[in-house]
Amino acid sequence: MASVTSGDHIVPLAEWLPLHKGLLIVAGPCSVESQQQLAATARQLADTGMVSVLRAGVWKPRSQPGHFEGRGDESLPWLRDIKAETGLPVAVEVARPNHAERCLAHDVDMIWLGARTTVNPFMVQEIARVISGTDMPVMIKNPVCPDLRLWIGAIERMMLAGARKIIAIHRGFQTGRTSIYRNDPMWDIPVALKQKMPELPVICDPSHIAGDARWIPEVIAKAMALNMQGLMIETHHKPGEALTDPLQQITPAEMKSMIQHLPGKAEAQNAAAHQLASLRQQIDEKDQYLLEILASRFTLSRQVGMVKKQHGEAIIQPGRQKELFQDRLSRAEALGLDTDFVERFLMLLHEESVAVQGGK
Ligand code: PEP
Ligand code: MN
Repeated sequence: MASVTSGDHIVPLAEWLPLHKGLLIVAGPCSVESQQQLAATARQLADTGMVSVLRAGVWKPRSQPGHFEGRGDESLPWLRDIKAETGLPVAVEVARPNHAERCLAHDVDMIWLGARTTVNPFMVQEIARVISGTDMPVMIKNPVCPDLRLWIGAIERMMLAGARKIIAIHRGFQTGRTSIYRNDPMWDIPVALKQKMPELPVICDPSHIAGDARWIPEVIAKAMALNMQGLMIETHHKPGEALTDPLQQITPAEMKSMIQHLPGKAEAQNAAAHQLASLRQQIDEKDQYLLEILASRFTLSRQVGMVKKQHGEAIIQPGRQKELFQDRLSRAEALGLDTDFVERFLMLLHEESVAVQGGK
């Protein structure tokens, strides 16, 4: 069990997949919509010469009913045809054991578990049972919620079923935080995964983190700064007409130009520079959280000020202030923070809050 947890039976990427400048590039449409759309997109991807695996959604998990749910079984022969034409191995998302069975029966080369599947250990186990003894490579997206153990648990279940070609995909988390991104990257989670399972290849899905093509380049840059080993990018020959995730899909040509500008693995920074870059990136993300929390706290202060004004209450209420300080200082102590520092910080916060309540 110890060896499963450290991931030391995982086959290194370069031993079984061609890489582009040391990176694994998985690309393809969010969903297969028609044979023509799949073929047009895949041909353009093959022409870039950068892509190692064609991704394609055959059964689409939709949050609400009534939306396009993929072409299902009908599209599996289209994948076989385009694979024969382009030479690109194909990867399909599986969400149920029978999806995995269909993939095995139709020569699909790799499967992946989506974020809504990794979250469910029962389903992961059922899928693991189907691929047991087959050597089917499996990519495992992080679960929707920021739970590292659940992600590791899905990887372990696949390893215990005998899978050795395993790749983790970081696609961000649903945290309820409002942001320009669709999913909160929480970069420290894939970093912690890599620390716990150093042999496990971890790639980034900037499409589902960004949720909008505009933010994909900056998400890719961050993933590269963290030394992720590749990218899964949603591409469509006509993104504006895509039936799923139209905002975040990009054309193969756009993908090519983004990847062309990346530093290759060989040119990546030395170990110390990389460690520093990784830590700084995590600090930047925490500072962003801090600022967002401050902004929402002052919005509440403003509302408190209005309620006090309406009811003729004083802005400064010493009893509440004393209670608040005592409570926060004891919480700070429990977190191992320096209470002198926190007291000074609370004082500043209090002064600003009083000003905001007064209509600043
Ligand atoms: C997808 O890859 O199209 C998908 C549904 O992604 P996720 O599981 O990351 O939401
Ligand atoms: Mn998608």
